Amino acid sequence: MSQCRSQAHLLVTLTPEGTMTNIVRRRIELHCSLDEGHAGLHRDAENDEEWETIEGRPSTVVRHEDEKP
Ligand SMILES: [Zn+2]
Repeated sequence: MSQCRSQAHLLVTLTPEGTMTNIVRRRIELHCSLDEGHAGLHRDAENDEEWETIEGRPSTVVRHEDEKP
């Protein structure tokens, strides 16, 4: 069975101390690692993220991380 080829962008954001602004720290390409035709959410096992596809739109997943002191 071939692999699902769904892709998404993961944006890792953080809010620097003393600001109210979210900034993008990293962008990661997600690739679904499940089999083609699977049910449910797409999943990238390597990055431990799941997403759903909205037809006609690129999928973007946002993960917020607090800045470590
Ligand atoms: Zn998939």
